[in-house]
Amino acid sequence: MGLFSRLLNRPGEQADKRIGWFDRAQDSVAQRQEEYTDSTDEQLTAAAAVVFDTGSREEQLIRFVALAREAAERVLDERPYDTQLRGLVGLLDGTVVQMLTGEGKTLVGALAAAGYALQGRRVHVVSVNDYLAVRDRGWMGPVFELLGVSVSAVSGTMSQEERREAYRAEVVYGSVSEIGFDVLRDRFRLPDEDVRVESRDVVIVDEADSVLIDEARVPLVLAGSTQKEDADQRVARLVARLDPNEHIEVTDDRRAVSLTTAGIDEVEDALDVELYGQDAGTLASVNLALYARMLVHRDVDYLVVDGAIKLIDASRGRIASLQRWPDGLQAAVEAKEKVETSTSGEILDQMTVEELVHSYRHVCGMTGTALAVGDDLREFYELEIVPVEPHEPVIRIDEVDRLYTFQESKERAIVEEVAEAHAFDRPVLVGTRSVAESESLAERLRERGIDCEVLNAKDDTREAQIIARAGEAGAVTVSTQMAGRGTDIRLGGEEVAEAGGLLVIGAGRYESSRLDDQLRGRAGRQGDPGSSVFFTSLEDELMSRVPEAQRFVEEGDETGLITSKRAALLVEHAQRMAEGENTAVHRDTWRFNDLMAKQRQLVLTRRDEVRDGTRGPDEVRDLLGEERVSQIEGEQSADVLDTAIRDILLFAVDERWVDHLAFLNDLREGIHLRTLAREKPHEAFNEESIGAFASFWDDVLTRAHDVLAEADFTGEGVDLPAHGLKRPSSTWTYLTTENVFGSDLETVVKSLRRP
Ligand code: ADP
Ligand code: MG
Repeated sequence: MGLFSRLLNRPGEQADKRIGWFDRAQDSVAQRQEEYTDSTDEQLTAAAAVVFDTGSREEQLIRFVALAREAAERVLDERPYDTQLRGLVGLLDGTVVQMLTGEGKTLVGALAAAGYALQGRRVHVVSVNDYLAVRDRGWMGPVFELLGVSVSAVSGTMSQEERREAYRAEVVYGSVSEIGFDVLRDRFRLPDEDVRVESRDVVIVDEADSVLIDEARVPLVLAGSTQKEDADQRVARLVARLDPNEHIEVTDDRRAVSLTTAGIDEVEDALDVELYGQDAGTLASVNLALYARMLVHRDVDYLVVDGAIKLIDASRGRIASLQRWPDGLQAAVEAKEKVETSTSGEILDQMTVEELVHSYRHVCGMTGTALAVGDDLREFYELEIVPVEPHEPVIRIDEVDRLYTFQESKERAIVEEVAEAHAFDRPVLVGTRSVAESESLAERLRERGIDCEVLNAKDDTREAQIIARAGEAGAVTVSTQMAGRGTDIRLGGEEVAEAGGLLVIGAGRYESSRLDDQLRGRAGRQGDPGSSVFFTSLEDELMSRVPEAQRFVEEGDETGLITSKRAALLVEHAQRMAEGENTAVHRDTWRFNDLMAKQRQLVLTRRDEVRDGTRGPDEVRDLLGEERVSQIEGEQSADVLDTAIRDILLFAVDERWVDHLAFLNDLREGIHLRTLAREKPHEAFNEESIGAFASFWDDVLTRAHDVLAEADFTGEGVDLPAHGLKRPSSTWTYLTTENVFGSDLETVVKSLRRP
């Protein structure tokens, strides 16, 4: 698309055209609904079953929308607004619908899910966490029942059997990670195991920007236990012993860390390796351990709870229970905190959130902030956006930012601002970027005699109740990252509205204006009064992107406030740089992942053929030779050999994939060195990974041959573990940071440092 047409085609405009017909059809919807008001519940259910059977597409949609409104009104006692119906049609049209916080997207998503199901589709409604999936399924259950659509929710606490059952429903609510983990486990299933996630047809993504853009690069990992000796832990223990003054060097901007010459000697002696020669792999784990020791901070990047490291999910500001760092980093932090080391494992398989979403036939979604990522949604998912105006105009006042010299002066000013509002019992929500910042602010507030609730990674379970009360008179709530929290903040009552509604204070700009907007959007929902203001300091992480901002430190007044317009522009500038960088990283990661995903797809197709027995027996028989084959078949009953071939090939495919994945990890990790050698990293990566992949199937066949040429057959076939073909005794799943490949320092740094 040329620049001109891009400018003319503002995001949303095209989508407007797509559902413009519906705006003109409101009267027909109203008429239709009247026909349904007198129906009994049974009649309504019956009507739903045939609603998509006849008529033009537009007639079908009008009929369905009218029916859906009637159903919702009946069982929830909430009559869907016209705006919600517009959103509904947008979702049924396969777009991302932009509706602000509090506009009722849960209901819109549920009605759309029912609409797809009534057209014979299978639907997953994906939310950011288990809590919301279970909540929404419960809340919307009666609507589905009346429309005659089966619904379920999957969550982390369910057994495999319960999950399998849940996935059979027409509409399934689940968090992106739970569904992704089940898909990963399905990929490794053995012949006697059933598939869990039966189909990936339609996906409706709630908080679409958060899932599709912010978390897109997060790999979901399936790992298995290994008996291998753990080199990472040895390195971690060694690095924990080094002297920071003598052996370790940290750059001035505190973004990178390395060994001094003395440090290199020390490590090489202790481990008996050549870091800059043969043992580049060891260098990578040493660097990771150094990074963990010097630049990863307790209470910012992780917590220590009950003697274990709990990773803080940077983008959501809470404990990520299933989340672990890449093995090396995890081991390094464990060594640093002297806590018990967790089981190490090898990566059996992995898949990014983006890959998962791409595996659905049909994607749509909803969020309060879609327009800001319009270009990204189009580039990465070919999705259009339908903006839906709020049903009551937004009267929230967004004040201009306040810029301060130091963190200290900023925090003091925030406390003043809170105190002022609190004096009138006006509720205040303070959004912070790290757990440490939230604790520090809470402490200051308490010193001022202001009682506050702190919502951060340490308090995950009370989250919903705390948020629900955040709009009451006199409430002060300090919270990390509000995006994706999904609970509505209602104002406490008339006196709260008169005091000005909810005051939202941002304790610093996020790395994207979209996250700022998510926080602001907590105030002024459904036409409520409210206001928002952001505080920034020159010491904020974000501002380190614009070193020239530091000279404004001279311009602070006695409270540290900087009023210069030019300084304010630099804040915007820093944020735009961060946004641009994030898109670039996304594009880059996607290019690396894409090839891996394609190779994985080829392997999975082959694996399915092996499992079904349509592939393998002939090829392996040929390799074994007639003599060996007739020897085995002479001693065994007919299908014993084929079953053995199938089982051994399945094992060999999985084993070979684990190796290939590890190879890709190492390749990706070392690839930035190629940039120094003026090779193009993506091309080099593609070339080498394609080269290594070429012999995949032959290697698998050879492995099967080698086992079968020697194997002892019992009456039942071959005892695989006895021949060294052992599957991991346990497997587990986790999310890592955005770095797919184990310990790519640069990407670890980036994601850890996200606010
Ligand atoms: P969102 O996800 O868009 O932020 P929610 O789905 O959480 O919003 O809904 C916000 C609140 O609005 C909920 O309390 C819900 O009950 C209420 N709500 C939604 N739709 C309607 C409606 N048509 N009429 C009245 N209240 C509604
Ligand atoms: Mg919501």
